[in-house]
Amino acid sequence: MTSFNSFHIVFYLTAFFLSLTTFIFTLIQRRTDRLQNVLYFCLLGIVIINSTTEIINDLMFEYSAFTDIALFGYKLCQFLYFLFHTAMAPVFLIYEMSVTGALRKRTTKELNLIMTPFVITEFLVIINPWTHWVYYYDSEQVFHRGWGEYFIYMVAALYIIIAMFSLMVRWNAINRKKRFTLLYFFGVTVGGILIQAIFKNLKTELFAEALGIMGVMLSIESEDDRLEQMTGVYNRVALQQDLKNYDMTETKYTIISLRIKNIDSMTKKTGSLDDDNFNLKLTDFLKTLVQRYYIYDVNRGQYVIAVPTTDSTKDNLLNTTFRRFEPSLSCDTIRDRIVERFKEPWEIERTSLSLEAAVMVVKCPSEAADRNEVFDLLNNPIPRNITQDVFEGDDLKYIRRRSEVEKAIMRGVKNKSFEVYYQPSYNLQTLKMHGAEALVRLNDKKLGFIPPDEFIKVAEQIGLVGDIDDFVLHDVCTLIKDGILEIGEMDCINVNLSIVQFENEDFPQHLCNIVDEYGIDHSKICFEITETVESEDYRKLNEAIVFLKDKGFTFSMDDFGTGYSNVSSSLMLDFDQVKIDKSVLWEAEKSTLGMVVFENTIRMIRQTNRSIVVEGVETENQLNVLKKMNVDYLQGYYFSKPVPKQRFVTLVEISRQE
Ligand code: C2E
Ligand code: CA
Ligand code: CA
Repeated sequence: MTSFNSFHIVFYLTAFFLSLTTFIFTLIQRRTDRLQNVLYFCLLGIVIINSTTEIINDLMFEYSAFTDIALFGYKLCQFLYFLFHTAMAPVFLIYEMSVTGALRKRTTKELNLIMTPFVITEFLVIINPWTHWVYYYDSEQVFHRGWGEYFIYMVAALYIIIAMFSLMVRWNAINRKKRFTLLYFFGVTVGGILIQAIFKNLKTELFAEALGIMGVMLSIESEDDRLEQMTGVYNRVALQQDLKNYDMTETKYTIISLRIKNIDSMTKKTGSLDDDNFNLKLTDFLKTLVQRYYIYDVNRGQYVIAVPTTDSTKDNLLNTTFRRFEPSLSCDTIRDRIVERFKEPWEIERTSLSLEAAVMVVKCPSEAADRNEVFDLLNNPIPRNITQDVFEGDDLKYIRRRSEVEKAIMRGVKNKSFEVYYQPSYNLQTLKMHGAEALVRLNDKKLGFIPPDEFIKVAEQIGLVGDIDDFVLHDVCTLIKDGILEIGEMDCINVNLSIVQFENEDFPQHLCNIVDEYGIDHSKICFEITETVESEDYRKLNEAIVFLKDKGFTFSMDDFGTGYSNVSSSLMLDFDQVKIDKSVLWEAEKSTLGMVVFENTIRMIRQTNRSIVVEGVETENQLNVLKKMNVDYLQGYYFSKPVPKQRFVTLVEISRQE
């Protein structure tokens, strides 16, 4: 008898130490705040309590024949074992539902229904001291099973079957690791139960449960791969996993994205070390709005709060029983609090920084169908000229369009499906053709025609404008090589360059190389650049211009007078030509003040000895006004819209015959 008991104790001790170890490591990780974590703790608690009662139980049994206290202790432990162990399967079912996301769909009524068999079994255990239905002791104090115990086993089996079924239904909603772990848990515990049922003296049940639970800790509860170690919030991968789960379980959710627009200027001011400080400060602030586990750090300076919305039925479990695990603020309040907070400066290591935040609110699936669309929206850079700080509802259409345009540009670059149009310019005195401006077009299979005003900006932001400008330059070179300028007795063709490209030191040489492939005279190409307030590095830009002018190219300053350009510093740059923006001409026609601005603009440029082009000439009236002005060239719909290359060639040939 004695030898058998110590044999049991080995199993119980192992189960005890295994689960204790698991318990300690779970505590060390300090991930105990989610509903899932709490349920896990319950499971762990049950195994620890059960192995403890089993150990005491066995020890007491040794002495139960001698003292009444030992006998009482022995029976009490047996009772406690049943009391707690009966809860194991149902708690596991709830845990499994919380991991797979199934819990989000269940109502309190349904939970009560699911828990009814459990309550009955617990009741049986509680009344057993009087009824002896579950187990009893004979006159020799030997333990015997009653029908109640078989009933309890059947109920447990029922819970395990439901849990298995629930797992199968949500199979694709969770990742492989979680699936495997849950299956492992099923396998190992059912194995342990079966072995114990067949060989009564092999007490493998608790031991197997402890093993299974340890597996769950290692793979599901430990979220090292999902967590930002420093701040304790989730990372981008976690967001992908969680949104996938919401999508697959058809759970509605709201995304609140927070992006620091001027994150780079912060680093400039404080150094990268303080990035960490700021990160901590910001996540601490977000944690005052929602629980840690709803926050994701997706990129440098970009954070997301993803809140699944439970079914609006009041009765939903997560609105009632498990309410405290849900966010207490509404998404609107969270959004407002963020906006408010960014009106105040951030104190980081004695530096006070005012940061600009763009907040985007996306409701899924009504505003973004699935996680892919959400990530499209999250990945989109916010255009610099947008000052708005909240994007929601209809604003999203704009951002979405942008991401569509982005894809169209990538397709266009890949399939070389851009086309170059040409718009002639005319000499004001002779009204003969003087040159032409090359203007790119994108006709996308999916989106149709996209105006360059829209896609050039986007191409700049995604770093593809270089490919577009190269494509245009090649087209222009071919045209010049074919002798278009000679046919039309014209001076040059204007090619637009995006200023962002001058950030690359090798860019000027790159342009030379392209043109030299065609062996044409550099003076036949005039580069147009729009100088903006944002372009800070005048020195670098001017060096590039001087270099290219040295090689024989000419330069035209585009969009002069649009307010984007910084008049005094832009006139310091070494341009040959200034193109007055169409808006200046149009204003001149509308008001006397506009006319004053127009006339003075012309006078000012004249004093710097540059030739002047006026664009946007649409009417005869405008032409007549311009004839009295001291400008050189005109461009506009009055003469011709930008036209496809073939059409342009014809135009040139006709103009020659006139
Ligand atoms: P931009 O360089 O100021 O080009 C002039 C724009 O004014 C062209 O628009 C042209 O079609 C339009 N325009 C010309 N005359 C008239 C007129 O009489 N009335 C009106 N309403 N508009 C007129 P487009 O072709 O849509 O180009 C828009 C902008 O896209 C360009 O402005 C330029 O900044 C950019 N862009 C176009 N092609 C290229 C390119 O190859 N490379 C780069 N980097 N940017 C380009
Ligand atoms: Ca231009
Ligand atoms: Ca222009």
